Amino acid sequence: MRIAVIGGGINGLCTAWELAKAGYQVQLFERDALMQATSRASSKLLHGGLRYLEQGEFRLVREALQERRWWLNKTSQLTRRIPLLYPLYRQGRRPRWQLKIGLMLYDFFAGRKGIGRHRWLTAAQTLRCSPQLTAEGLQGAYLFFDGQMDDYQLGLWVAAQCRKAGVTLFEHQPVLKLAASGELLLSSGWQSFDRIINVAGPWSEALLQQSNLPVQQSLDLVRGSHLLLPTLGRYGHMLEVPGSRRIVFALPYKHQCLLGTTEVRQQLHEPIACSEAERDELLAVYNQYFHPQMQPVDVLDSFAGVRPLLKSSADSSRASREYTLHWQQQLLTVSGGKWTTARALARQVAKQVRQSTKQM
Ligand SMILES: Cc1cc2nc3c(=O)[nH]c(=O)nc-3n(C[C@H](O)[C@H](O)[C@H](O)COP(=O)(O)OP(=O)(O)OC[C@H]3O[C@@H](n4cnc5c(N)ncnc54)[C@H](O)[C@@H]3O)c2cc1C
Repeated sequence: MRIAVIGGGINGLCTAWELAKAGYQVQLFERDALMQATSRASSKLLHGGLRYLEQGEFRLVREALQERRWWLNKTSQLTRRIPLLYPLYRQGRRPRWQLKIGLMLYDFFAGRKGIGRHRWLTAAQTLRCSPQLTAEGLQGAYLFFDGQMDDYQLGLWVAAQCRKAGVTLFEHQPVLKLAASGELLLSSGWQSFDRIINVAGPWSEALLQQSNLPVQQSLDLVRGSHLLLPTLGRYGHMLEVPGSRRIVFALPYKHQCLLGTTEVRQQLHEPIACSEAERDELLAVYNQYFHPQMQPVDVLDSFAGVRPLLKSSADSSRASREYTLHWQQQLLTVSGGKWTTARALARQVAKQVRQSTKQM
């Protein structure tokens, strides 16, 4: 059975790999080079997402923590365990008991083979770990652990697994149009497949629209930008954005500090880049927590990506990070998802493809 996968981000690559392992003949079409879009503009965390517990997304967090373990075990050359501090200040938004419950659940969902349990650090211990943190009002911090990756290189590693499993990967091959009966239009003409999997991330909905196909799951496109600043040392930080429910990470990454992210609604025709307003917003959060203060001239680099979130909430920071799958005849469209859960998403796709062939 011939299957076409559209999109060479992490979700498309994991899907192609999983389908090839299940014995299908898979061809993947990517309009640019592999791993050039959202999947290389992430916060580089292989994580359950502590803050999604606040939104009651227990299924997602548990699944992501199991996936985190897999990536850390199987791809240790491109991933590592990272210690994270959640500093608590007198004027903070979340009380200590709430974080304690969240972290107990996080450890529980990670299972007995977790990567280390959380613990409370006094203010003095916290400042020893992270001397640049503002001492005024600091009550202490929770120390916990997550995974970190080189998202681009890890995606290329998955691409190599695809090739080994027999997937043909086509780069610079945009799919111009789809037909639900299993045809897709390339610059060379129409090609026919038994199944088509539309995993074009933020562009999956637009691809349906340009093919005059109904959209079953609308997306909320939300840009997230990161800055690279001089290093803060070996600890990552999870920081409350003053006056908001949002969280910003300040993470050690390749001898620099990766600071992000923002949440700005985005149209597909707009450039995907960090705006001056986002840069200033991130620097304001940084300067609230750390000294010496950073100015725009201290920014070493910046990058941005667009989250393909399921349209579920007016407040994008509360929008679900879950994924959904929708069939239209031979065409399956994948919407949403996180980097960490790309393999779990791919397993669901393979399961549904298997079931669809039994029904034939
Ligand atoms: C700022 C930010 C931070 C994030 N941080 C994390 C994190 O730390 N951890 C985590 O787990 N998740 C994180 N995420 C989420 C994660 O990055 C995304 O969920 C994931 O990368 C989406 O992958 P994808 O393959 O669906 O999309 P993409 O990586 O965007 O891939 C889609 C691909 O489809 C291609 N395409 C589009 N149209 C066509 C067409 N017509 N023909 C052929 N190809 C086409 C595109 O060129 C693109 O390469 C973050 C997201 C953002 C934006």
